Amino acid sequence: MNDTHAIHYRIIPAHPEAHLFEVTLHIEQPDSAGQVVSLPAWIPGSYMIRDFAKNIVTIDASDASGKGLAIDKLDKQTWRCAPCHGSLTLRYTVYAWDLSVRSAHLDTTHGYFNGTSVFLRVHGQDDTPCTVSIERPEGEHYRSWQVATTLPCDERHPYSFGRYHAADYDELIDHPVEMGDFTLIEFEARGIPHAMVLTGRHYADSARLARDLTRICEYHIDLFGEAPFQRYLFQTMVVGNGYGGLEHRSSTSLMCNREDLPLAGDDSVSDGYRNFLGLCSHEYFHSWNVKRIKPDVFVPYELSRESHTPLLWAFEGFTSFYDDISLVRCGLIPAESYLELLGQTITRVIRGSGRLKQTVSESSFDTWTKFYKQDENAPNAIVSYYAKGSLVALVLDLTLRSNSDGERSLDDVMRALWQRFGKPHSGVSPEQMERVLNEIAGEDISALLDKALRSTDDLPLETLLAQVGVDYKLRQASSNSDKGGNAGKESKQAPLALGVRYGTDPLGAKLLNVFDNGAAQQAGLSAGDVVIAVDGIRATQENIEKLLANHRGKQHVALHAFRRDELMRFSVPIQEAPEDTVYLELAEQTAKEALRLRNAWLGITE
Ligand code: ZN
Repeated sequence: MNDTHAIHYRIIPAHPEAHLFEVTLHIEQPDSAGQVVSLPAWIPGSYMIRDFAKNIVTIDASDASGKGLAIDKLDKQTWRCAPCHGSLTLRYTVYAWDLSVRSAHLDTTHGYFNGTSVFLRVHGQDDTPCTVSIERPEGEHYRSWQVATTLPCDERHPYSFGRYHAADYDELIDHPVEMGDFTLIEFEARGIPHAMVLTGRHYADSARLARDLTRICEYHIDLFGEAPFQRYLFQTMVVGNGYGGLEHRSSTSLMCNREDLPLAGDDSVSDGYRNFLGLCSHEYFHSWNVKRIKPDVFVPYELSRESHTPLLWAFEGFTSFYDDISLVRCGLIPAESYLELLGQTITRVIRGSGRLKQTVSESSFDTWTKFYKQDENAPNAIVSYYAKGSLVALVLDLTLRSNSDGERSLDDVMRALWQRFGKPHSGVSPEQMERVLNEIAGEDISALLDKALRSTDDLPLETLLAQVGVDYKLRQASSNSDKGGNAGKESKQAPLALGVRYGTDPLGAKLLNVFDNGAAQQAGLSAGDVVIAVDGIRATQENIEKLLANHRGKQHVALHAFRRDELMRFSVPIQEAPEDTVYLELAEQTAKEALRLRNAWLGITE
C-alpha cells in the first residue's frame, strides 16, 4: 500500500464467530527512543474506569523490513516498542463481545466498535491526522453488509467499507462504527442530513421515526441557533430488553427495547416510545452540551485515569431537563404527559434519603466511584446528578422566567454557554458557569446556586411551579411499582410499606434496597434477604404487599427470610407508606400572568 499518511489504521472484523477484530497500526515516523502506545481506560460520556486494553488478546510489532520488534508492557494499558529505523507496524487482535454502547461487539449478525476499544493511541502524535481502512469480513455471508459512522469518508458512497480519516486522535475515537445489514432511515433537519440506523430485529415504522426525530432535531438546532455538525447519525441497537445511550460529536450510539419503537398505523405515543424519544433528544442535545460546551478539565480529555469535575449537574442535569421538555415544546407530547414525566423525576429524587447526604456537586465529582458503581445502599447514600440536576435546571429556568417577566430563561443561558465556551471549544470552569447564570438572571442568584448546588436542602419546586400555574401534589405510594407522576388509584385505606424495593427470586421476594429508617430496616432486614413468608404464609414478589395488608391495624407482623442460607425471623412494625409520591397538575384557577408564563414555558401557542 502506498500510504503517505503518517498514521494509518486498518481494522477488519476478521473472525466474527470468535468476536475478534484484527487491527493493524502503521506509524510512519515512530519515536526514535521507542514508540509508546496505549488504549484509554474510559470512554468520554461514561465516567467509569473500564480498562479497554484488557480485551487486547495478542499484539506484536515489526519494523519497515518486516522484522519483529520487542514490545514491552509498561502498565495495564500501555506498551513500548523497541527503537527502530523507519516505520513501525503493530498488529493486534481485540475481543469484542460487550453488547453495550460503550465498547465493541462483533458476531455474524453485525459489528460495532468505539475507537476507544480498538485504536491504540500513538503517544507524542495525538495531533497527527490519521486514516482508517474499515474492511469487510471475508465470505458470501457478509456481501450485503454496510458501514454506518460519521467518521469522514474518502469513498464515493457513504455507508461503504473503505477509507476513512480523522484530523487527530480525539476525533478518531469520537465516531463509533456500526456494520451489518441495518435499516437506514434518512431525513433532513434544517437542511442538514440526518440518519438513523436500526440494527437487530425490529418492526418499527421508519416514516414515523423520521418525522418525529426531525421535530426534535429542529427544536434543538433552533434553540442554539445553529447545528455544530455537517451531518448526524443515530446508531440504534434494537434488543428485547436494554436501554442506553452515549453521545458523540456528530452521532450517538443507542440501545432500545424492540417494543418501545412505534408500529406502522399506530399514531399514539406509548410510554416506551416517549422514553425512546426522550433518549434520542437527550443524546442529540449533548452535541452542544458536553461534546462542545465542556468542563474545563475535559479539554483535552485525560483518558488514562479518572478526570473529576463538580459540573456534571450542568452537563447531564441540564441535558436531562431539556430531553423531556423539548418533547412538549416541539408538540410531540401534550403538557399533561410532560408533567407526568416531571412528577416521576421529582418522586425519584425525594424518595432517596441520599439527597440529604450528598450535594449534586459532590455527586458529579464522585461519579467514578459512587453513581457509576451503585450498590444496594445507593438510595441512602447518593443523589443522582441526572435527576436532581434536571430539577436544578427546572428551578433555574422558572426563576429566570418569573424574575424577568418571561423575557429570559435557561435557553438564554445555553445560548450564552454555546457562544462563549462551546463554539470556541475552550472548556468552562465551575466559576465561569455560575458567572453566566448570574449574568443571564440579571441579578445575583448566588444564594440560590449555593442552596441548589452545595447544600442538601430540598429545592423550592412547589413555589416555583405555582408561579407558572402548576399544582405540586404529594400522596402515598400505592405499591412498590408506583413511580408517581399521576394521581394514582383512589383507595379507601392508606397503603402500607416496608421501606424496601423488591426484586424476584425463585424462593420469594428479594430485598434489593432497604431504605434508611423504614420498617424493614428497623426490624433488622437487609438488602439481599429473601422474604419467604408473612405471618407463616408463603410470600412472593407478587403477593407480599397483599399479605402485609392483612395485618393493617396491628403493631407488628412476623416475616421469615433467608439471609444467605440461614432462615431468620423478623418482627416488622406495620407502617403506613410515607407521602413521597409526587404528581403535578395544571392548576384550574390560574391568573392571566401565570397562564402566560406557563404557555411560554411549555411552548404552548395561545
Ligand atoms: Zn447524558
